[in-house]
Order: sequence, then C-alpha cells, then structure tokens
Amino acid sequence: MIAHHLPLDMLVDYAAGSLKEGPALMVASHVALCAQCRTQVAAFEAVGGALLEEVRPAPLSEGAFERALAGIDSRPPAMPAPASQHDLAAILPLPLRRYVPAKARWKHAGGGVREIGLKLGEGPHLAVLLRIPGGGVMAKHRHTGLEFSLVLQGAFTDRGARYAPGDVCLAAEPEHEPLADAGVDCICLAVIDGPIVLTGRIGRLLNPWLRLKAKRAAARR
Ligand SMILES: [Zn+2]
Repeated sequence: MIAHHLPLDMLVDYAAGSLKEGPALMVASHVALCAQCRTQVAAFEAVGGALLEEVRPAPLSEGAFERALAGIDSRPPAMPAPASQHDLAAILPLPLRRYVPAKARWKHAGGGVREIGLKLGEGPHLAVLLRIPGGGVMAKHRHTGLEFSLVLQGAFTDRGARYAPGDVCLAAEPEHEPLADAGVDCICLAVIDGPIVLTGRIGRLLNPWLRLKAKRAAARR
C-alpha cells in the first residue's frame, strides 16, 4: 500500500505538460506504480480537456467530471517483484526503462551506496538510481533544492517515516540520513533539483564526487 504520494500541484503541472524532464520522469514513474495518483492525473487531464471544450460555446454538461473519473482505470497495478542482482529491468516502471541502458552497471558512490546515473535530455536536474545495501545508511546530507526519492525495491526510514516500493520521499532542507531496512538492498530513483551538501563523516569523503556532479548539472542549465 503506497502511503507517500507526490504533491498535488506537481501532478497538475505534469498533466498540463509543464514539468521539466527530471520531475516529469519522477511523476511518470510514481504514477505507473500508484493507482491513486494515476487517477488524479487522468482527472486533471480530463478536466483540462473539458475546459478546452468549454472555450468553445458547448457548455460542460452536468456530471462530466464524475463521468471522466468513472472512465478512468483505478485498479491497482501489480507491484514488481524484488529484483535479483542481474534483473534490474524487472523492478523499473515502464517510463523509467528507456533511461536505463540494458548493460548499465552499478558504480560505487561511496559509503557502500551504488549508483547508475541517468541521462536527461534537458533541464537542470540530476536523475540517478541509488542502491543502498540492506541495513545501510545513505550519507547524511542536506539539499540546496528539492530531492525526490521513489522506492523501487526494499524500503528505508527517514525522519521517522518508512518508505516502501511506490512511496515517494520528498526531502528539502534540513539535512537527513535515510536508513535502509535490513535484508534486500534498497533501490530508489532520485531526482534532485539542486546541489547536495554532504555533512556527515562519510559526507566529507563523498563531497568531491558530488561537486563534480553538480558542476555537470550546472553546465546543462
Ligand atoms: Zn501516489
């Protein structure tokens, strides 16, 4: 059961087609796993279409919104099974698959965390798959912008809340330090819209790596 969803205004912007590629990828991936947000997006899209119709003289008929909602498939999607080491594609929601090369390899990101960087065509965002070992801690860090993490496998706890597959963790400042559940590795899609500042002991070791990433992202702005 998905407990942590995306902010409503982000779904509205997604339905309106006004999100940049990074956040749009986050919404598309969450919506692929979350029937509730999928219904919302479809409703916004339907209302958007109805409002466009409204510009023409034909009035919006009574109950049009309810009918649009009723026509939307709100069945919960099948949650992908946990991935084996070699079967990453099995846990990726469809919109995410084309961003992950078939032969993508996990690279060390420090502190036991591994990553696969995703190539975005436009926008200032960083998108990355993160793999935190079961029972492991993601280096303590804070953000100069927003960080969205969508859990694809495993689970983590952050600031007292637990995030399982399909859940989105939205982190702004202050600093945080996600802790993965013991057992299966936790794999997340992270989309970041500002440089990360690492603050813990591991953080100081990782900082040069992240500065490089932030520089690359800034170059694309
Ligand atoms: Zn949702």
